[in-house]
Amino acid sequence: MSHKPDAFDNALEQLRIAAEHLELDDGIRQMLSEPKKVIRVAFPVKMDNGKVRVFKGYRVQYNDARGPYKGGIRYHPEVSLEEMKALAAWMTWKCSIADIPFGGAKGGVVCDPKHMSQGELERLTRRYTSALGDAIGPDVDIPAPDVYTNAQTMAWILDTYSQFKGRMVPAVVTGKPVSLGGSLGREAATGRGAAICTREAGKIKGMLLKGATFAVQGYGNVGSNFATILEEMVGAKMIAASDSKGGIYSKKGLDPKKVLAFKEKTGSVVGFPGVREITNGELLETECDVLCPAAFENVITAEVARKVKAKMVIEAANGPTTPEADKILERNKVLLVPDILANSGGVMVSYLEWVQDLERLRWTEEQVNTTLESKMTSAFNHVHEEATTRKVSMRTGALIVGVGRVADAVKTLGIFP
Ligand code: GLU
Repeated sequence: MSHKPDAFDNALEQLRIAAEHLELDDGIRQMLSEPKKVIRVAFPVKMDNGKVRVFKGYRVQYNDARGPYKGGIRYHPEVSLEEMKALAAWMTWKCSIADIPFGGAKGGVVCDPKHMSQGELERLTRRYTSALGDAIGPDVDIPAPDVYTNAQTMAWILDTYSQFKGRMVPAVVTGKPVSLGGSLGREAATGRGAAICTREAGKIKGMLLKGATFAVQGYGNVGSNFATILEEMVGAKMIAASDSKGGIYSKKGLDPKKVLAFKEKTGSVVGFPGVREITNGELLETECDVLCPAAFENVITAEVARKVKAKMVIEAANGPTTPEADKILERNKVLLVPDILANSGGVMVSYLEWVQDLERLRWTEEQVNTTLESKMTSAFNHVHEEATTRKVSMRTGALIVGVGRVADAVKTLGIFP
């Protein structure tokens, strides 16, 4: 599941398509084609073996015309500046489609968290946070979990930032533990939002989802919540799942909760009893109704797209489909719900968490889920309307809505001085 470093080229190509439809003038296009600020840090961490290692980290702050920067922090050996730029651009359009008052950002540290101890990860996180300094903050830029970071990572960022400030600042991060001001429903929110999108996509495709089959690439937090919630919500059946170690397939169906329990115990879905083992590549080509890439960028290339048999692709990952693959899926009448819509449930609930922290409120899980449900369906419907009116794909419709609102904000703010 490796991703090539050309994700930002894909993001720029998508921006170009949206800009054409929106007839944006050249100045605005240029302003949206570059991140406003790029922070690059290198910092030392004491490793368990007593040696010091220097790590490289980034925070790309793409655009804040609609509100403070917002976006996750990723720990992965293949993190690069170009990848962060792409992910930060997508966060910008995503928050705009979700209609929440945030801009877009993304951060990451080049490291291999699977081969680091908790102590090493804690020291890395604290030192990265101190290196970012006042570049983050509740009114400036609010990080959240992304690939291989979680609520504990957010707790360390919150503590480090708060130590410097001399007071607790819970609103500096979202996706933190509930005991520290995190929101109920945040952990499952990205998967839940993607499940809601699948249900809505089923309606527009006239597809009965009860008993429909689905495959999930990347059985992490997002993929496993998507599977569990989709099964509960519409009675669909998971037949394939994978993670970085490989995949599993069962025509009879896989119980999402049992697969998760197995992965939590053994570290992988591979080895789950009574199934056929498949590769991550085979998973994408599985005969199924719904395909959910929930791992990395650029996994559905043109070559893969030709072999996709699913009727719907729900992009729970960021950037899983290349622009060339998009065209092929569209030609083959595969209904694709794009990342910046399909996985926006996470940042929608991040927004609810931030509001609760700033206002010293505590909402029930039901309140959060009800708000997510209504925000998600209205974003979905808005994008679908745009796509239908302009006779374009859901991807292009989403980009038109997302980029369009940011462009409006940029234009209306004007240029200082
Ligand atoms: N990392 C998630 C994403 O890509 C969540 C971002 C957030 O909640 O700020 O959407």
